[in-house]
Amino acid sequence: MSNSSIQWTQKTWNPTIGCTRVSQGCKNCYAFELHDKRHKGWQDGWEDAPKQYHKPFTTLQIIPERLLEPLRWKKPSRVFVNSMSDLFHPDIPTEFLDKVFAVMFYMAEVHTFQVLTKRPERMKAYLKDPELPKRLVAESLAIIDQTFKPSAVWAREPWIQKNGQKNTIEARLTQLFELHNSVKHPNIWLGVSVENQAAAEERISLLLDTPAGIRWLSCEPLLEAVDLSKWLLFLDWVVVGGESGAKARDFQIPWALDLLMQCKAYLTPFFMKQLGSVTVKRSKILGENGILHGRLSDKHGGKIEEFPEFLQVREYPNG
Ligand code: SF4
Repeated sequence: MSNSSIQWTQKTWNPTIGCTRVSQGCKNCYAFELHDKRHKGWQDGWEDAPKQYHKPFTTLQIIPERLLEPLRWKKPSRVFVNSMSDLFHPDIPTEFLDKVFAVMFYMAEVHTFQVLTKRPERMKAYLKDPELPKRLVAESLAIIDQTFKPSAVWAREPWIQKNGQKNTIEARLTQLFELHNSVKHPNIWLGVSVENQAAAEERISLLLDTPAGIRWLSCEPLLEAVDLSKWLLFLDWVVVGGESGAKARDFQIPWALDLLMQCKAYLTPFFMKQLGSVTVKRSKILGENGILHGRLSDKHGGKIEEFPEFLQVREYPNG
């Protein structure tokens, strides 16, 4: 776990590491480049390199010892799940997905989990599986077996403290899952990446057909103007950002303004994350003469106070 500098989250949780590219948005994947730089360091003799860097990013690694991290976090947080992977990558076994989801359901009263994928077809199939609730109850019981301590955060619930009996716990968990199913898991925000119109057409309808309390889009890196209007009524949140890094591709402020106006028309919360590295370079050339008020000081263009006023918007679902 780590506290995150990503503006729309508070912590990252990576029970798996690694991925393979699927679309244009992956071209300069930050996680890919960072991991493989460290992997190369290990190959070149970095003896103390943490174990995950012994393998390249394209080798999906399951890290079971990280599974229970959210149970130890006392402060309720927004948690970005798998900032260094894609939770619905085909190399992650369904049995492991069950464990990850069991932790998320289990911590429903404490944390909010933000899941983002470029593989919504698997996400949809997983979440729609009628056997899923039963499997998650079983996984949650396994968590109790491994971790029960009266001092644990989740053990604050009075029913656990009074009734340590396994059958009572099982009955209560089943009840909790039913409750959560009926409100479609409001603590688990399911989202897809949308870098261009083709990705929007391919991914959003799959997201809308997936049971979720909160459905969201990450339009980062935004690579062209995108029309979301036919879906916005059914979406709960849109995050927008320009690409960062040395090889960042173009990002145009009017694309973001256009998305903001679309979101306003449908009352969909909008979050302007960052203007991206190309805008940072442009700000250095244009200075006061451009749409910006001067040079951007953050290398990703992520300081809201330096955005044009009309883009200084960082809203969240449900206000
Ligand atoms: S899906 Fe995400 S994590 Fe995987 S390569 Fe693409 S951008 Fe990177």
